[in-house]
Amino acid sequence: LTQFDVASVRAQFPILQQEVNGHPLVYLDNAATTQKPESVIAAIANYYRYDNSNVHRGAHALSDRATEKFEGARAQVAQFINAPAKEQLLWTRGTTEGINVVAASWGRAHLKPGDRVLVSAMEHHSNIVPWQMVAEATGATVEPIAVSADGTIDIAAFTAQLDTRVKMVAIGHVSNALGSVNPVADIVALAHSVGACALIDAAQSIAHWPIDVQALDCDFLVFSGHKMFGPTGIGALYGKRELLEAMPPYQGGGEMIESVSFAGTVYNQLPYKFEAGTPNIAGAIGLAAAVDFLQSFDRAQADAHEQQLLKSAEQQLQALGGYPLVGTSANKVAVMSFTCDFAHPQDVGMILDQQGVAVRTGNHCAQPIMDQFGIPGTVRASFSLYNNEDDVAKLIAALTKAKMFLA
Ligand code: PMP
Repeated sequence: LTQFDVASVRAQFPILQQEVNGHPLVYLDNAATTQKPESVIAAIANYYRYDNSNVHRGAHALSDRATEKFEGARAQVAQFINAPAKEQLLWTRGTTEGINVVAASWGRAHLKPGDRVLVSAMEHHSNIVPWQMVAEATGATVEPIAVSADGTIDIAAFTAQLDTRVKMVAIGHVSNALGSVNPVADIVALAHSVGACALIDAAQSIAHWPIDVQALDCDFLVFSGHKMFGPTGIGALYGKRELLEAMPPYQGGGEMIESVSFAGTVYNQLPYKFEAGTPNIAGAIGLAAAVDFLQSFDRAQADAHEQQLLKSAEQQLQALGGYPLVGTSANKVAVMSFTCDFAHPQDVGMILDQQGVAVRTGNHCAQPIMDQFGIPGTVRASFSLYNNEDDVAKLIAALTKAKMFLA
């Protein structure tokens, strides 16, 4: 069995070869956004250098080339999540926009007074607020699915909540605040058992293991390019064909129409119906390069490497003391969220930053679960495949210093 070659992967990330505040950068804010390998940076630069043109306008060679790359990227990303057809992969700005498209378009068409939308109590705000907005407009309600003290979904409570008034279950695959991996295939099946649709927010899972939308049988799945080594401003929304076909457009404009007249406008077919205006062409091409990057090594080995870092970091953190873990699910991605017995998480974060260690502090856009746990927020160290044991050691050394200064 060969080991994951972290050194050769790490060498592909130019941003990691720098000092911050006089220390070598230790980047542990990967749940917020991952860094970009040279190949993704080059794909974006090469597009602007050689191919830049508007797409689907077919009047000249550059436009043909840009269109071919842009649509090729769609096919590649669709295949990456095992979508049955590339038309079922819609480009968005990211996870947030993907959820807003479904909430606004599917939600306004299907929800009526008395209908229920269920989201877990540990969702990111972007999987709560769009549903609240459409609930307000339609008379539906948004209700939380209970989360236990260890940061896992209470499946018994969820099952008891289900009835035929539940029309949508929107669930994060992985909690960005705690790292918990949710049993989404089971949740989708339970949602379907009462006739509800299920949306999976894959923002925090997409970088960690292969996703198969057909195996999950989800109705919608959304993710962001920037959390999987791709650029910001691009993401994808997958949907089942019959649902997407029946949904009204989200925005109006160019590209999303078949014909326009003042007597009436005919909408374009999938996926263009949902892609008004000039799209993020470079972003899509950069995201396809990120898929190439992720497929250039054994992903199971990369995952095992991250899990090893998590185990090592958690053991050392607990040995140090004073930093209680938040979220202790047995099934987590490499996210270590913790509070501090002697200081505010923000103060800890500042001391880490002074030592070149980048973590995130705060409520991680998941205020309801922080409120449930009775904490203002956490310090979150989130590991990616380019992190190594040296990064873990530097994090623990910096936390040891923070304890000396603050305790
Ligand atoms: N959902 C989850 C679980 C997330 O972690 C994030 C990003 N922190 C989002 C949604 C929103 O993603 P974006 O800001 O890229 O739209």
